[in-house]
Amino acid sequence: MKEDLIALTHTGDEYGKYLNAVVPPVFLNSLHVFETFEEYSQVDIFEEDQFVYGRSSNPTIHILERKIAQLEHGARAAVFSSGMAACTAAIMGVCSSGSHIICMKDVYQPVKRFLNQVCIPRFKMQVTYVTGADLEEIEKAVRPDTALMILESPATFVFRVIDLEAVTAIAKKHGIKTYIDNTCLTPIYQKPLELGVDIVMHTMSKYIGGHSDIIGGVLVSKDEGLMRKIIGEMREWLGGVLGPMEGWLAIRGLRTLHARLEQHQRTAMEIAAYLEKQDKVRKVNYTGLESHPQRDIIKKQQSGHTSLMSFELDTSPEKAVEFINKLHYFGKGCSWGGFESLALCPLYKAGQEELDFLGVGRGLIRLYCGLEGTENLLEDLDKAFLSL
Ligand SMILES: *Cc1c(COP(=O)(O)O)cnc(C)c1O
Repeated sequence: MKEDLIALTHTGDEYGKYLNAVVPPVFLNSLHVFETFEEYSQVDIFEEDQFVYGRSSNPTIHILERKIAQLEHGARAAVFSSGMAACTAAIMGVCSSGSHIICMKDVYQPVKRFLNQVCIPRFKMQVTYVTGADLEEIEKAVRPDTALMILESPATFVFRVIDLEAVTAIAKKHGIKTYIDNTCLTPIYQKPLELGVDIVMHTMSKYIGGHSDIIGGVLVSKDEGLMRKIIGEMREWLGGVLGPMEGWLAIRGLRTLHARLEQHQRTAMEIAAYLEKQDKVRKVNYTGLESHPQRDIIKKQQSGHTSLMSFELDTSPEKAVEFINKLHYFGKGCSWGGFESLALCPLYKAGQEELDFLGVGRGLIRLYCGLEGTENLLEDLDKAFLSL
């Protein structure tokens, strides 16, 4: 944690380079020019401070990538124009036509859509979906042509976790690369590369940006060769690089990430405990609760909890919608990770199979606790409960 705080606040400062400015500038340039053609020709974009063209590298972006590589204990990070641009570049970077992928059932939904609607029909890949909780099921899903495992922990909706050390041990035994979406916990509360994962993805549109004002993503790995390939091929050719302005805003977001998360966590702990005490609440899903069925795994691999949770009311799905509509500070909208609280019924239109897998009803409510203060949010919830 000590090192994390320095990475968040000061890595990349190099005051002397930027006229002693305390904040490095945003380099809004698409190219760099040289005195001679030879100097231009010799640039190696993988070396420190070597820049030619903005799609390959940019000084502001480079500071951000150094910070994230340091936070995740990776050799190198690469930022993208969105979390999905990062995710799809990782899949395309690791897999080939015909590859087999093992993917957890409750990963971020657009990832499954990319697999089902592009990778399978257009690139002839094959995907086996697993729960992630059953190690035997994962071992059985392994095939000689399995190239990648796609993981997320905790996963959306009911915040199930996967035992990352156990799952990556299976993958390593069979020479399979592992990828995880670590957005929910940020590099502060979980370090998957230390637990054996090969590639970590974050969307910076959530806690890292932190102010609901950017879309961006990042990949990071200890495998320098793999990252060079992703930067030099997949990001270079698919072209989804992050813009310098968004990069600068992400750097600004990182400076306060730890302080914000501590506050988010404190609020979420109180709200989860409050919800558990309500007669009309059937079940609360939050990694910070002692009642979480996988608390032993959580204690082993997470060093904190965020402010996303879900719960079910003892009423109909229609009543659950009425309940969230009564909330004032919890805006009704997707996304999360900013300063503003949010509430949704994310499975309102889900199919029965998905509901059965998650073991919940259509009325599941997802809460994201922002920075409006615990008291204000509790008052808001109180009013909604009184109206039930
Ligand atoms: C929002 C989100 C994404 C996608 O990120 P974008 O930047 O919107 O592409 C991926 N994973 C999780 C867990 C998310 O919440």
